Amino acid sequence: MKLLLLGCEGQVGWELQRSLAALGPLVCLPRAGRDDLCGDLCDGDGIARTMRQVNPDVVVNAAAYTAVDKAESQVELAARINTEAPGMLASLCAQNGSVLVHYSTDYVFDGSGSAAWREDDTTSPINTYGQTKWDGEQAIRAEGCDHLVFRTQWVYATRGNNFMRTMLRLCAERDELQVIDDQHGAPTGAALIADVTAHAIVAARGERDLLGTYHLAAAGQTTWFDYAHWVIAAARSAGWPVRVAQDHILPVPSTAYKTAAIRPANSRLSLDRVQSTFGLTLPDWSVGCLHTLHEILAQELHEARS
Ligand code: NDP
Repeated sequence: MKLLLLGCEGQVGWELQRSLAALGPLVCLPRAGRDDLCGDLCDGDGIARTMRQVNPDVVVNAAAYTAVDKAESQVELAARINTEAPGMLASLCAQNGSVLVHYSTDYVFDGSGSAAWREDDTTSPINTYGQTKWDGEQAIRAEGCDHLVFRTQWVYATRGNNFMRTMLRLCAERDELQVIDDQHGAPTGAALIADVTAHAIVAARGERDLLGTYHLAAAGQTTWFDYAHWVIAAARSAGWPVRVAQDHILPVPSTAYKTAAIRPANSRLSLDRVQSTFGLTLPDWSVGCLHTLHEILAQELHEARS
């Protein structure tokens, strides 16, 4: 099985470089491309040429416009990358007989209620990023190519911009931290997403019934406040130079923290479909968080010493 990975330097893309490597010949492209291959989703001709040259059995698209707040003022660019480009990839995959693997988000839902969202629940994005991602899903379905779409959430990794890394920086700088306590979800490791993706690609090979849309997140749930509390306590125990006292991490409502894009309050995702279809038991969010936290701390301590 020949694979083409786009967006290979993002949080999820980086982990996919590892997890997809055992599946067959793998071409990994960052936005800037590599050799004479184009990796820029805004360059339709370049991507079409790359598809012809690589002729992949599976295309994994980990590239996206992920700046949730900026998307409110960069609507066209967000739509180009999150909606038009997945549609174009789906069209190329349909012509080529390739499977397209793509990622979407909990932000396709409006965050109402407290039940975990199931794949078939009604979508109703409340910000531009969520709308462009939902439109991207629909563009893929409209092209009729074989696809796996994984909706994930609250992604963290040892690299990139994510909440865990922000908290590790802030807790060493500040005497007090205010963190939102009325949004609910599950921090999900890029490594877990990448591992499940590889597993699903193998399982779905030759089993078209397994293709479709899945929620893919860690198990359990928390709030940003409880997550921050947990990360900082774990960092303190691991010897990280934490400045803020644990009781100076303060819960605040979303209304106290103005952002350009509003976020859904309930981002709980039901994992029933992905677990039962692929025979998986997804671990609690804290399992992957602890592993990644220790990796980040080891990296930082190593850099500080050298
Ligand atoms: P990142 O922001 O870490 O990575 C996105 C990658 O896309 C970057 O490497 C970026 O490259 C690349 N990219 C942006 N524009 C283009 C373009 N025009 N052509 C090619 N590459 C481009 O995202 P994640 O790894 O966190 O996200 C992976 C997927 O998961 C995305 O589909 C995202 O929407 C989804 N998701 C992410 C969540 C999160 O919390 N991060 C939550 C829910 C879903 P460059 O660095 O050059 O800009």
